[in-house]
Amino acid sequence: MSELRLDDWFTTHPKVIALSDAAFRFYVTALSLRAQREAGPRVPFAEMVALVPFSKVKTRRVLLELDARGLCFLNEAGMLEVVAIPRVQFGPSTKPRALWHRVRRALAPLIFARDGYRCGYCGGEKDLQVDHREALVNGGSPDDPTNLLTACGRCNRGKRTRSEAAWREALARGKA
Ligand SMILES: [Zn+2]
Repeated sequence: MSELRLDDWFTTHPKVIALSDAAFRFYVTALSLRAQREAGPRVPFAEMVALVPFSKVKTRRVLLELDARGLCFLNEAGMLEVVAIPRVQFGPSTKPRALWHRVRRALAPLIFARDGYRCGYCGGEKDLQVDHREALVNGGSPDDPTNLLTACGRCNRGKRTRSEAAWREALARGKA
């Protein structure tokens, strides 16, 4: 997971920006698995289905969409071939908040799984969200998985733009 970094060029790439939300989520998950495995561009389709639990019909539709764009192919051996799009330079970076949220939504299932479905601050298991450890307004990365942490709604709302250290201290003092 730590190897996957979604830069501006990725989220604004013509092939990617045109994807439906479902296909985007599926593709980002596939890229993450591919990066984790370091075993080449193929990932077991069964692992994908476990991480992105769409209905069979929706999964088929998403696969058709990704196949048509040359991004993912399912082979007969049940392996998903994941094509990493070539890096393209787009000039001055523009990254609207809507895109950040799209990235975060797509990565949430992976972040939750990585963190064991518990809040990284208090250990709570309810109302899980993805928090930016270093807030965006403080220059934190919107999509680097190392800056993303599973947080319960209470911690996410309570921390707001405070630093991670300040929030942990507030929690420890019972002043959260
Ligand atoms: Zn919490």
